[in-house]
Amino acid sequence: MTDPKRPSSSAGGRSNEEEYFARREAELLRQHREAMEKTAAEAERKLHVMKCPKCGFGLCTATGHGLPIVQCPHCLGLWLDANETEAVLKGTTEERAPVREALLSIVQSAGSKPDREWEAYAAQRAADLARQQQAEREQPALAAERATHRMKCPQCGFDLLTTSLHDIEIDQCSSCHGVWFDAGEAELMLKRSEAERGMFRSALLAIVKAVSGPRAKPK
Ligand SMILES: [Zn+2]
Ligand SMILES: [Zn+2]
Repeated sequence: MTDPKRPSSSAGGRSNEEEYFARREAELLRQHREAMEKTAAEAERKLHVMKCPKCGFGLCTATGHGLPIVQCPHCLGLWLDANETEAVLKGTTEERAPVREALLSIVQSAGSKPDREWEAYAAQRAADLARQQQAEREQPALAAERATHRMKCPQCGFDLLTTSLHDIEIDQCSSCHGVWFDAGEAELMLKRSEAERGMFRSALLAIVKAVSGPRAKPK
């Protein structure tokens, strides 16, 4: 065995060599432990992907008015990733109106203007929830598992942070900057006057835009 970093044993005798091996062993163990912890943390975060950060049910996806929608079939909360949030908020008033209508109809328990698209989505969402609730009746452990997803990003698994923008509470991911709206908060935001929404939009745009700039690496 040739190890360039290995000290010559002639210098300090056998104790030096033993110390060297002990240190090397400790260092290897430390590196191994760190790698294991990193893998475990990554695996733990993956468990939260596509799970509601409020009630833990699996989220469902749909496309409404060209907008990819990620919603909880149980509490009807809404997830928008940073790019989608930016897309929803940008554009002219006319461009945003259909998106607003679509979002409003899906966060209300009965759509404000039920149409074919809304009905199809609502049926799919109800079926999704029924399937999950049935699975939970068969496996009661799933109910306890739901609690672990609380305030975890449904996209990357990092923690969500609660913030208030113009009296509307949102939860934002500390890592990917996506935004979670509780159904009530989304309804509140969407129903406000154009001027009030304008203020909210600017504030929200400012916090999601951080994504396009240098991104803070979570520790
Ligand atoms: Zn939920
Ligand atoms: Zn995230």
